[in-house]
Amino acid sequence: MTVLRVILGDQLSPRLANVAGAETGRDVFLIAEVMAEATYVRHHVKKIAFLFSAMRHFAEALRAAGHIVRYVALDEAANTQSLEGEIRRAVEALQPSRIAVTEPGEWRLRENFEAMRDGLGVPFDILPDTRFLCSHADFDAWAEGRRELRMEYFYREMRRRHGLLMEPDGTPAGGRWNFDADNRKPPKQGLTSPPRISFRKDAITLAVLDLVRRHFPDGYGRLEPFHFAVTRRQALRELDHFIAEILPGFGDHQDAMVKGEPYLSHSLLAAYLNAGLIDPLEVCRKAEAAYREGLAPLNAAEGFIRQILGWREYVRGIYWRFMPGYVERNALGAAEPLPWFYWSGETRMACMREAFAQTHDHAYSHHIQRLMVTGNFALLAGIDPKAVHEWYLAVYADAYEWVEAPNTLGMALYADGGLLASKPYAASGNYINRMSNFCSGCAYDPARAVGAGACPFNALYWDFLARHRDRFSRNARMPHVYATWDRMAPDKQAALRHQAEAHRAAMREGRL
Ligand SMILES: Cc1cc2nc3c(=O)[nH]c(=O)nc-3n(C[C@H](O)[C@H](O)[C@H](O)COP(=O)(O)OP(=O)(O)OC[C@H]3O[C@@H](n4cnc5c(N)ncnc54)[C@H](O)[C@@H]3O)c2cc1C
Ligand code: SF4
Repeated sequence: MTVLRVILGDQLSPRLANVAGAETGRDVFLIAEVMAEATYVRHHVKKIAFLFSAMRHFAEALRAAGHIVRYVALDEAANTQSLEGEIRRAVEALQPSRIAVTEPGEWRLRENFEAMRDGLGVPFDILPDTRFLCSHADFDAWAEGRRELRMEYFYREMRRRHGLLMEPDGTPAGGRWNFDADNRKPPKQGLTSPPRISFRKDAITLAVLDLVRRHFPDGYGRLEPFHFAVTRRQALRELDHFIAEILPGFGDHQDAMVKGEPYLSHSLLAAYLNAGLIDPLEVCRKAEAAYREGLAPLNAAEGFIRQILGWREYVRGIYWRFMPGYVERNALGAAEPLPWFYWSGETRMACMREAFAQTHDHAYSHHIQRLMVTGNFALLAGIDPKAVHEWYLAVYADAYEWVEAPNTLGMALYADGGLLASKPYAASGNYINRMSNFCSGCAYDPARAVGAGACPFNALYWDFLARHRDRFSRNARMPHVYATWDRMAPDKQAALRHQAEAHRAAMREGRL
């Protein structure tokens, strides 16, 4: 009575029921590297290498624990190059009595599995993904009947439910739920990234790097240096290093951006969390312990825990509640094609160039660069949300649709019409100049809004507000910006709008 247990590349967790419940020596694990998954968007080559190496190491760990593993390598001759094809091939070869899979993180795959469940002729269990701290049912129960689904209230509920950073009398540690006011410091002179640990590439990783080089010669991004953790043990070492050495400074400069410093005090843990190498609750508990032991200040521990217990769980809830239509949303009617410089990095805007270079080299850029530089530009310039969504899904090692789509369409682009964000994250060059040191090396001047050398973010910002006045002027968080716009002389307003159109024309022609 063999159970065929299908493990997807982002389900590399021994604590999932589909793994923990397996019978040694009887059940068979199926893990497959397939082209359909590696190419459905133009994934960064580092992401492909990270996942293939982590999958191969996970298979080794299962074998070492006595399990039978059917591992299908990308270049195996019989590989059908699709998950469905590999499941059908395994069913034919093994004649299992049942198939079990943990629910996938993407709508497209869940639909695919549901169709298979109904047509394969073998009982097919789709098990819940218990790594998350909020189930679909719990999120729906929280969301039901609310006029607005704001993350902050969801987060407080999650703090209470999981007893994280809570005092015995039920109040939040430090008397406040949120210490963000302490976390928005601009970069001080000489701010650098603390040292990181990296891991020696073993034979498995070297073989994967070679495979990726051969099979994805035109893939996006730089493959080496390759420094990712590829096992749970390594990911835990990286987590412990972060908690001990880097978390204490996480809060202060969380929003700061510095040239040549892609990481600063960010954790780099998203890729490991999303692939299953570490669990969100263990990460949050370690951060809380650091605070309780006096090793990290509360603004750092709270800010960090909120990202995982709050934002990460919340965006997953939004994704599943509003799919399949969510990724089609375009509330602001944005229709500009994605400029080629998102891929090539060739632009005169130093902030964008820096974000693209980090993305290309590391399959990473931190949250504020995603949101307030590349995302903000796409919002202001009116770029088609679907094209932007596909770009973000491709270029980061931590990108999966359940987490990327609400961040892109909801948080960065306001394409969901305000479901996720109470106001658009729109900002002029002034914000980027305050929070980074990019502008000093730029062809444009952040202090100028019109004329030769004017920072494109400035005119595009005002033009964005003017274009969407009907929607945003009644927003309770935006009256001051419209008051400023209204105080401008009509010829200044006209000049800004004319300048914005000139920037868009330059963008289309690759001259920006
Ligand atoms: C346009 C856009 C696209 C994004 N796409 C992704 C994506 O594909 N995958 C992804 O994991 N995150 C995404 N994010 C959220 C966030 O930027 C990344 O999680 C973070 O930059 C990862 O780096 P880190 O691990 O160093 O995070 P840190 O800054 O150290 O934060 C700690 C952890 O909190 C979680 N987290 C932080 N912010 C968010 C958030 N807004 N939503 C969900 N989880 C969060 C992550 O698990 C992260 O590892 C996106 C944000 C934006 C604005
Ligand atoms: S001047 Fe404008 S375009 Fe240049 S780095 Fe600053 S914000 Fe970016």
